[in-house]
Amino acid sequence: MLYRILLIEDEPGLVLTLSDKLAKEGYDVVTALDGEEGFIRASSQAFDLIILDLMLPKKSGLNICRDLRQQGFLTPVIMLTARDQVVDKVLGLKIGADDYLTKPFEMLELMARIEALLRRATRTFVPSQSVYKFGSVQVDLRKTVVTRNGEPVLVAAKEFQLLRYLIDHEGKTLSREKILQEVWGYTAIPSTRTVDVHIAWIRQKLEEDPRHPKFIITVHGLGYKFTP
Ligand code: CA
Repeated sequence: MLYRILLIEDEPGLVLTLSDKLAKEGYDVVTALDGEEGFIRASSQAFDLIILDLMLPKKSGLNICRDLRQQGFLTPVIMLTARDQVVDKVLGLKIGADDYLTKPFEMLELMARIEALLRRATRTFVPSQSVYKFGSVQVDLRKTVVTRNGEPVLVAAKEFQLLRYLIDHEGKTLSREKILQEVWGYTAIPSTRTVDVHIAWIRQKLEEDPRHPKFIITVHGLGYKFTP
């Protein structure tokens, strides 16, 4: 399985060294050189892991991490901090970073941390195959592309995460609370109504007849079930 890593870092030398090393280790690497670009990439495409520098032009690593978590992105984040940023490091972990490394760090150390995080994350989130089909719908889980009758369908990042979660748990009845917890992962989200709204959007886009869905079924009193 090819893991996609997003590297958000503004030191050109480090970007070069890191992306080179990651590619050699067999990772698919996407880079962003400032915080704004990094945040846009992180919230519009699926990544298995994000390496996030703390001090970035345009949007700080802390703000990126906080905003991603608030929007429900669960992608593991390793934060890179300078030696004198201990306070920020603690804050970083508080607002949802999974791990941190202090610069300068050993490349081997970073690789070990990445592997550990990916192992942890994929235990709950392994797509069985990268392209998944049901009805006239095709979902490319790696490229995060959805097509219906061969035509591309625009799905928001959250919709895609929800769809991916449903696919990973096909045939199982999933309660709204469970979906909220697993896909949004945030206790701050107000209500399970959020789940209903997103389910409705996905049905609108992917079901032949959204009022009588064939694939994403409502299980009355319990939740939802994906039946491809
Ligand atoms: Ca920096």
